[in-house]
Amino acid sequence: MVLATGNKNPQFGIYKAVCCGYEIVVTEGARFPDCPEHKRPARWELVAAIDRGRMPLTLPSPSRRG
Ligand SMILES: [Zn+2]
Repeated sequence: MVLATGNKNPQFGIYKAVCCGYEIVVTEGARFPDCPEHKRPARWELVAAIDRGRMPLTLPSPSRRG
């Protein structure tokens, strides 16, 4: 399964655009959007999975990864 714009998200979680590192939360079953920064299709990378009905205590800092 390629995590890219227009594909269904198999895992509720925080995703990061490969092109620029922009982070978004995508719910399970939702389709990946365009990169909000570049306004064009992007590939997405899972940063942190979120358990159904629960939010993580702390959001990961964008500068800690990559
Ligand atoms: Zn981008």
